[in-house]
Amino acid sequence: MLTLDFHATGHHFLQIPGPSPVPDRILRAISLPTIDHRGPEFGALGLKVLAGIKEVFKTRHPVVIYPSSGTGAWEAALSNALSPGDHVLMYETGQFAALWARLARRLGLEPEILEWQGSDADLPEAPGWRHGVQTALIEERLKADKEHRIKAVCVVHNETSTGVTSDIAAVRRAIDAAKHPALFMVDTISGLASTDYRHDEWGVDVTVSGSQKGLMLPPGIGFNALSPKALEASKTAKLPRSYWAWDEMIAMNKTGYFPYTPNTNLLYGLAEALDMLKEEGLDAVFARHRRWAEGVRGAVDAWGLPMQCADPALASPILTGVILPAGVDADRVRADILKRFDLSLGAGLGKVKGRMFRIGHLGYSNDLTLLATLAGCEMGLKLAGVNLAGSGVASAMEYFAAHPAPQAKAA
Ligand code: PLP
Repeated sequence: MLTLDFHATGHHFLQIPGPSPVPDRILRAISLPTIDHRGPEFGALGLKVLAGIKEVFKTRHPVVIYPSSGTGAWEAALSNALSPGDHVLMYETGQFAALWARLARRLGLEPEILEWQGSDADLPEAPGWRHGVQTALIEERLKADKEHRIKAVCVVHNETSTGVTSDIAAVRRAIDAAKHPALFMVDTISGLASTDYRHDEWGVDVTVSGSQKGLMLPPGIGFNALSPKALEASKTAKLPRSYWAWDEMIAMNKTGYFPYTPNTNLLYGLAEALDMLKEEGLDAVFARHRRWAEGVRGAVDAWGLPMQCADPALASPILTGVILPAGVDADRVRADILKRFDLSLGAGLGKVKGRMFRIGHLGYSNDLTLLATLAGCEMGLKLAGVNLAGSGVASAMEYFAAHPAPQAKAA
């Protein structure tokens, strides 16, 4: 037995904001025997997932499926559409936006970073990491770029390191208001299939996503949803790419096949996840996440601790970042909660390491799982000597009881 299989009793609480818990239905699908990825059965599977995933991105255009993590899908987006030395305007909402910019720099692009400016008493280390994308800054910068040197605007939709969800339609409007031809690239690695996302309607050229969050799969699939404009740009883009090349993928995908060995078993899981999302209905999935987030935010409020998201309208339905009082080591609190209660919480990343923790409330979960999660947090905070104003668990119990979940659709 792998030591990884061992939990003293009961099941482990995986409440990080992805990878999220994998439903049994998906685990069973993944466990089917691997088939020949060039054989006759595979094409039907390929066509099913390639068509089904378009509905989740809300696009009529191709979605490329990679056997990769989200980072690979970031690289694919940039390397297919851009050329060495291209200027890209990137907005730093948190650690993942910062890592995408680092990747761009490593590829030989010239990222220019925009960030919220101001000070913050609760999180002086990273004041900008409590806010969403300020679209006025993007519009102003693009208007000043009269020669159209900026070739792409890149933003993160749901910043998983902070719990802030930016308004992607508003970023599109800012680009349009500046009458700028830059490509628009969006990372919704943790937003897809948990909160509304509309690739076509919001005029996004490349959307980047991954399997291990709202799609409820293990890590290992990366996605690029494309627009005709992105495909056109890729014909003249000069960054080297081979594994990531869209054209070979799209050509082979027409019959449901892939240019190299795809992750067959994860694609079984994807087919199952798409069925599950369809059975529930995407709008119901989004409402379920909003309701959970309300309950969890009420709990954090009851504790009297600041949420990392400073703008309630942009608070993420997927995770909540909780800032701890200065002097309390959030990593220590998390480690103790794991040891005592077998509950994994998300760490503070980059500039906010040790200052906050993240509660994931996404994917395959339910009210009682979240109440247990909040109980683990509450006990851990008290053991660490954090002064809590009240009981977050009691607050969430009241919220969930008073706001019943809508009934699932009859089969
Ligand atoms: N972007 C966001 C918003 C993420 O949440 C993550 C991972 O959590 C990534 C990018 C990187 O994806 P991966 O770790 O799958 O490479």
